[in-house]
Amino acid sequence: RTNGETVLELDGLVKTFGAFAAIDDVSMTVERGEFRSIIGPNGAGKTTLFNLISGALPVTDGTVYFDGEEITKLSPPERVARGIGRSFQISNVFGGLSVRENVRLAAQADRRDGYNLVESFFKPTGRYGDINQETDRILERIDLDHVADEEADALAYGDRRRLEIGVVLATDPELVLFDEPTAGMSVEETQETIELIEEVLVDQTLLLIEHDIELVMELSDRITVLNQGEILAEGTPAQISGNQSVQDAYLGG
Ligand code: ADP
Repeated sequence: RTNGETVLELDGLVKTFGAFAAIDDVSMTVERGEFRSIIGPNGAGKTTLFNLISGALPVTDGTVYFDGEEITKLSPPERVARGIGRSFQISNVFGGLSVRENVRLAAQADRRDGYNLVESFFKPTGRYGDINQETDRILERIDLDHVADEEADALAYGDRRRLEIGVVLATDPELVLFDEPTAGMSVEETQETIELIEEVLVDQTLLLIEHDIELVMELSDRITVLNQGEILAEGTPAQISGNQSVQDAYLGG
């Protein structure tokens, strides 16, 4: 999926809480189009790292570059507007609206407005034609065109997941951060969801925190292993599964 171009660069990131360094000098680059998974034991710093990338937390030290520009001091909405999409874990679907309305609203708001749904209700727009086409294209891509006029609340579980991913896609992000999107799902639901993410967000760069290591090994281009706030290893699934220190610290021998 990648073309060798760097889309995200973290340089010497540090995040301390009091005297404790949750992120301790992390540097990494992510290529455009890459599917990168972040793994590591509980407390390794994975969610904190995401919060530094999205701007939810200020860095203690270090620099974040996105699309070649420094974004370390930008607010979360400013980062969304640049193309750093949020995960669908915080549900972004309106249950009382139809499938089509949900996708349409997101397409209409899109990331250039920081995905402000309330404003998008009232936004005057001369591009209804474009938006209708875009909406149809996304409904097809997530395979929900046959239930486009049903209420989101009436959807079956799997279709609801599809709609959530469609809403992410409609905001046209460049990079999407997924923090355990499959938390609480069965093994089959997890597999389906991650595969769907990969299939639908094919033009996006994906950063995924996921516990199902088998799935991570199967689908990632590269994996970053965090341990106690530091990068323990980074590489292709084959490199990671063959790495002795990862085996010792994390994969349990
Ligand atoms: P992971 O996502 O890998 O499980 P986290 O990033 O959630 O790890 O947490 C890394 C460490 O930082 C943990 O020890 C956690 O207790 C600590 N931590 C995270 N957020 C805070 C906070 N707001 N205040 C104090 N400690 C925190």
